[in-house]
Amino acid sequence: MNRLKRRSIACALLLIAVTGSQSLGLAQSPVLDGFAPKLSETQRKLEEQFRGVPSATNAREELRRLTAEAHIAGSPEDYATAVYVRDQMRSFGLNSDMREYQVLLPFPRTPSIVELIAPRRERLQVREDVVPEDPSSASKKIVPLYNGYGTSGDLTAPLVYVNYGLPNDYEALKKVGVDVKGTIAIARYGNSFRGVKAKVAEDHGAIGLIIYSDPADDGYTQGDVYPKGPWRPDSSAQRGSVQFLFIYPGDPLTPGLPAIPGTPRLKRELALNLPHIPVQPISYGDAQRLLKPLRGPARPKGFQGGLPFTYHTGGTSDVRVHLKTDIEFVTKTIWDVITRIDGSVEKDRWVVLGNHRDAWVFGAVDPNSGTTAMLELGRGLGQLMKTGWMPRRSIILGSWDAEEQGLIGSTEWAEDNAAELKEKAVAYLNVDVAVSGPNFGASSVPSMWKLIRSAAQDVRDPKTGKSIYDAWHGRLRSDLSESELYDANGNEKPATAPRIGPTIHFIGWRTSAIQLSNTMLPRHKSGARLRCVWRMRKACHSITPTMGWSLRSLSTKRSVWRCDASSPIRSTRNPC
Ligand SMILES: [Zn+2]
Repeated sequence: MNRLKRRSIACALLLIAVTGSQSLGLAQSPVLDGFAPKLSETQRKLEEQFRGVPSATNAREELRRLTAEAHIAGSPEDYATAVYVRDQMRSFGLNSDMREYQVLLPFPRTPSIVELIAPRRERLQVREDVVPEDPSSASKKIVPLYNGYGTSGDLTAPLVYVNYGLPNDYEALKKVGVDVKGTIAIARYGNSFRGVKAKVAEDHGAIGLIIYSDPADDGYTQGDVYPKGPWRPDSSAQRGSVQFLFIYPGDPLTPGLPAIPGTPRLKRELALNLPHIPVQPISYGDAQRLLKPLRGPARPKGFQGGLPFTYHTGGTSDVRVHLKTDIEFVTKTIWDVITRIDGSVEKDRWVVLGNHRDAWVFGAVDPNSGTTAMLELGRGLGQLMKTGWMPRRSIILGSWDAEEQGLIGSTEWAEDNAAELKEKAVAYLNVDVAVSGPNFGASSVPSMWKLIRSAAQDVRDPKTGKSIYDAWHGRLRSDLSESELYDANGNEKPATAPRIGPTIHFIGWRTSAIQLSNTMLPRHKSGARLRCVWRMRKACHSITPTMGWSLRSLSTKRSVWRCDASSPIRSTRNPC
């Protein structure tokens, strides 16, 4: 069979009705959405071939290579991971190249100081402990604790506890007569992106912000802490960007334009997505030294966290804190790796899968569980192409850089390719934290719900032997109450489809994000297989789902990443 015929069989299509397919022994949805019955069969065979490729041994080795060194964006170690991803993709027979951007990145020149001045003088640790069971935690290359794009500063001021640091928290403080103007605010992580906490703090006149992980949200209240369990131990703190992503993400100095030679750059003072105050993350071990002596009104239940004392507002001169941050802003080269497979019929329709590669530290879960799944997906595509298969539409696999600092690599690439993306992008699948446990979850725009559910029906869950969809569904039902499961006569109510959460879609593409999460068990093979199925169907069915909107009418200014956090402790659960 010639190449063209083969691919047209694989990828030409229709939507018709249905017959049952039992490949893998799973109860598969009958005719695949978007495919004629015959083509659906061919597609299933190809997918089965595809699913046979991702291998746990390969995934393990790829993850080991990607996380052998701490690889913060712009570092030589980060460059080495870009070369590795490019070369792996090329070794699979795919066309892969690097694209460089020169962007403004923040680095701590010296470790920050957080010091209690009153009621006693005590300098806090502001450093994560070495975990004897985890030799990587002793690496000398681990960057000190900092929040990306917080400013340098050296301040001493009263401290105010602002709960999650959101507008309603400040409203509640105002009601009990506490004003944060001229103070250092201390907020706990959670309930919003940390950049929002920085913006709200500075808008309320705080001169500095400390953010900590409360054990009620991310620590012993939730379960055993690392290394006994996956939760955050008492010296661990969450790094992360406080860029104002909601104003614009990406390189602060080139909004709307790619950060390449020749692009005019703003002065840093004029960049609207940067905070104006120092922001520092600390652990709950350190935070309790600051919170326990606070006076002022005791806070109601919603303000109380998991530390063993009553939380007060502070804001009085009883507790004063010294905060010193020393941040250097440097223009650095970053490296996206773009792998392209041309479509056989609709070359100018692009199905894009993206995953960042940079990490604050080692990034075994975030993002390299995703990079590993993407590499295995590349291996599968390469293998199929050796048999003459080509996707109907073009496929682009983007390995983004500097996501942690502010979705930078993906944004710059989108800005670099804005005109083409407006015309050609069909859908975007975001990977990032692909695997941290066995529980499947997804978020997506509604026009892709069907596709996600059908892909999940055709991939086996290694734990239960059922499909990932059935395991997902079973978990959902186990969370429901009796009254939600049964009607008044005791009859089981019809099963509802598992919920798919919303996702953001700044670029205006249809977007999805899927992951396996919630424990530390590795499931890369299933992650890669599921993505393969999603990808192949999206790239091959004959019609683009029509629900949605005109891609052309939408802005291409922004990228689609959600934000993440990381810790040098590889297994610590990511609360973002
Ligand atoms: Zn991430």
